Amino acid sequence: MDEIIKACPFCNQGANNKRKSIGNLEHLHIYCASQLLVGARSFCHQKIEKAIFALYYFASMREYGTPLQEALRISSLQERMERICSDNFSKNYKS
Ligand SMILES: [Zn+2]
Repeated sequence: MDEIIKACPFCNQGANNKRKSIGNLEHLHIYCASQLLVGARSFCHQKIEKAIFALYYFASMREYGTPLQEALRISSLQERMERICSDNFSKNYKS
């Protein structure tokens, strides 16, 4: 798929945008500055954050019997998820 789309159809619209952007999925999902895509990404990030917060809240209630904000330490689930994210980040972006 990355090799099929050579130029981003959103960045390359308009006469004053001379810079051609590679239209791969990474560009579309992370870097594209198109206002429509930036708005969609922001909307999705808020939904994901809200879902993760609800998950951590549930885990805290289940493990400690207290809401996330009142727990003295993070839940085992949150600890594991953060460790996995950190490991994946290290594998993908540091080398
Ligand atoms: Zn773009």
